[in-house]
Amino acid sequence: MSATLIDGKAVAARIREQIATDVARMEAEHGVRPGLAAVLVGDNPASQSYVRMKRKACDQVGIASFGHNLPADATQEEVERLVGELNADPQVHGILVQLPLPKHLDEERILSMISLHKDVDGFHPVNIGRLAMKGRDPLFIPCTPHGAMVLLEEAGATFEGANAVVLGRSNIVGLPAALLLIHRNATVTVCHSRTKDLPAVCREADILIAAVGRPEMVKADWVKPGAYVIDVGSNQVDDPASEKGYRWVGDVAFDEVKEVAGALTPSPGGVGPMTIAMLLKNTLRGAELVLSGQV
Ligand code: NDP
Repeated sequence: MSATLIDGKAVAARIREQIATDVARMEAEHGVRPGLAAVLVGDNPASQSYVRMKRKACDQVGIASFGHNLPADATQEEVERLVGELNADPQVHGILVQLPLPKHLDEERILSMISLHKDVDGFHPVNIGRLAMKGRDPLFIPCTPHGAMVLLEEAGATFEGANAVVLGRSNIVGLPAALLLIHRNATVTVCHSRTKDLPAVCREADILIAAVGRPEMVKADWVKPGAYVIDVGSNQVDDPASEKGYRWVGDVAFDEVKEVAGALTPSPGGVGPMTIAMLLKNTLRGAELVLSGQV
């Protein structure tokens, strides 16, 4: 058996096209251009590259992007002052603070300072809290797990009553993914580094979301035949045969798992492009919230 490939790139491209149309219409009808401010503290090359990719994606759909780079030794007060200014700036509908922040900064305090209605990453404790509560809706859903859910929908997964297993419990991926699955009436098991007999737990999953950051950890015999498998992992591994000396792999051993799963995302080319598409969508939503007088 060979799994259906869930093509995140193609789904994301379609979503971005729709966003571009909606952005153009908003500008024509209301004279408002959605704007995203990206705050980068320090010179972590991976963070720099993520911010570059997000800003480029904004340009491509007509969203204004504002880059704010602070030095690695920026003080808590400096970062908070900047977030305060962006909260007050009417051209900014979404604020993203690229994580991780340098160790000396109080990340929770900074994320909590972002206006709820500009929290396009969905990391504000109130937005996460609403996601965790029955019958409440956050203003924004965190982009990566939201992208994973959209891919499951696209692939035709049934959530209601399904056994879903999430590998990983981070605030930005695993935990919100589990909450989203609960909202959709799946029965959810969340696994982490202390979980016993991971393969056996995973084998029960009709839907398996892997977000552990361990290269190709999920093997074919961890997967229930026909399961929907979403690989969030993005790991750089040495590869002397490649020109760069490394390559990117997911948390799922793609070549073997594709023989067992019913549907599977590749990594790269699965959840990654969806994360950016969801960020653009959230920024558009930030502008819509203002236009509709909801904030
Ligand atoms: P974190 O390191 O924050 O969390 C990893 C989670 O996996 C933790 O809950 C940890 O458990 C658990 N874990 C680690 N090792 C094991 C193990 N051997 N067995 C069981 N559980 C384990 O990672 P993130 O959530 O930030 O990211 C996860 C992956 O997703 C990474 O590869 C990252 O690069 C990728 N990613 C991809 C994105 C995209 O857009 N495609 C966006 C964000 C992340 P414990 O809590 O006990 O420590």
